[in-house]
Amino acid sequence: MAEPKKLYIKTYGCQMNVYDSERMAEVMDGYVKTETPEDADMILLNTCHIREKAAEKVYSELGRFKNLKVEKPDLRIGVAGCVAQAEGEEIMRRQPMVDLVVGPQSYHRLPELEAKSRAGQKPVDIDFPEEDKFEKLKGRPKASRGPTAFLSVQEGCDKFCAFCVVPYTRGAEVSRPVQQIIREANDLVERGVREITLLGQNVNAYHGEGEGGTWSLAKLIWELDKVDGLERIRFTTSHPNDMSDDLIEAHGTCKKLMPYLHLPVQSGSDKILKRMNRSHTAEEYLKLIERIREARPDILMSGDFIVGFPEETEEDFQATMDLLEAVKYGYAYSFKYSTRPGTPAAEREQLSEDVKSERLSRLQEVITRHQREVQDDMVGRKVNVLFEKPGRLEGQMVGKSEYLHAVHVQADGVQAGDLREVEITESGPNSLRGQIA
Ligand code: SAM
Ligand code: SF4
Repeated sequence: MAEPKKLYIKTYGCQMNVYDSERMAEVMDGYVKTETPEDADMILLNTCHIREKAAEKVYSELGRFKNLKVEKPDLRIGVAGCVAQAEGEEIMRRQPMVDLVVGPQSYHRLPELEAKSRAGQKPVDIDFPEEDKFEKLKGRPKASRGPTAFLSVQEGCDKFCAFCVVPYTRGAEVSRPVQQIIREANDLVERGVREITLLGQNVNAYHGEGEGGTWSLAKLIWELDKVDGLERIRFTTSHPNDMSDDLIEAHGTCKKLMPYLHLPVQSGSDKILKRMNRSHTAEEYLKLIERIREARPDILMSGDFIVGFPEETEEDFQATMDLLEAVKYGYAYSFKYSTRPGTPAAEREQLSEDVKSERLSRLQEVITRHQREVQDDMVGRKVNVLFEKPGRLEGQMVGKSEYLHAVHVQADGVQAGDLREVEITESGPNSLRGQIA
């Protein structure tokens, strides 16, 4: 039998890209994964367009592989993901050693594209094809795997927030059919998965075809709740306007749905929310959180913030700080606004870098304090931990609580995939410590 070829994939950006990279590796028959680009017969960069100067960073990363290609002319180099989608053929023009370019909606065609490139062509496939990518991808491989997995249920976005490239790179909102998702979830559980995180750029806008018509995300979650062996369900990322009543209710009643919710708000100022095209006010967001906390009082909230958006005054920024205090997030991700070509806000007058940096550091100070307080509050409590892997110390295992905190436990005899009740004894900078209860 021929030696399998080696595939090196570097993944940037969000969890959807992590999922896509897994699926791309799976679709490449005859390849095994390698962690070292020097060993690879094919290098694939699965890129993200959210970062500042994303395309420039990809070009410089590609430059690093130039020598490898000189030493090994058979090496195939591919660019996938959102930068591939946005730049298309420009990538080949600027880095002629790139052999193929593939967008997030057409990576099921990767084997064909690789074959074309080996035949001397330079394929660029950034179509939004009619066919269903997920139908073309095969079932998940038979090998057993770790206890947690991502599962994409929805892609694209129709919201067009003024700062965001996603609607342009990932296209319009599309939901996968219910049965396809249930099949994939069963596949994953058979391979050892105990926790599934449902993914979508706008996951709570899910509206997939199921028995009797269109299903909501809540209905899908209740169907997954019936999957034997699946212990935990999470979902990310949600938009406040799509937090429907049945989803809020599920947080109170579905035992497998974990008490953690990522619900980005971006700003606490109504003026800025309007300029961002977020179509809700700060007060509506706070009311929503109140209702979610009524349904599930211990839920841990997480969010995203952008500071220094065009026209943000000190007063607007203060409104964001007030909102932070009102919610007290267990986790929050914060960014300085930076322009994305082709988005409406990129054309507006920009604030200075100094103002953005100064606001970001004030915001992050509060976020870090809250994060730490929420984590410290866990000390003395009993949580459920799904163990994922051995820790760095002898006999130590690491897992995640239902609130997504990393928990370290000295626990002989505990295996990856075990769910145990743990009493939290200590709170460190980024994780908790505990003992089996
Ligand atoms: N769909 C999600 C939502 O509605 O919040 C997440 C989209 S985006 C992949 C993740 C985060 O990146 C956003 O919530 C936002 O905070 C940040 N982001 C997106 N575009 C940005 C930009 N131009 N400048 C700074 N941060 C940005
Ligand atoms: Fe981007 Fe999220 Fe807004 Fe869609 S809802 S445009 S993905 S920030």
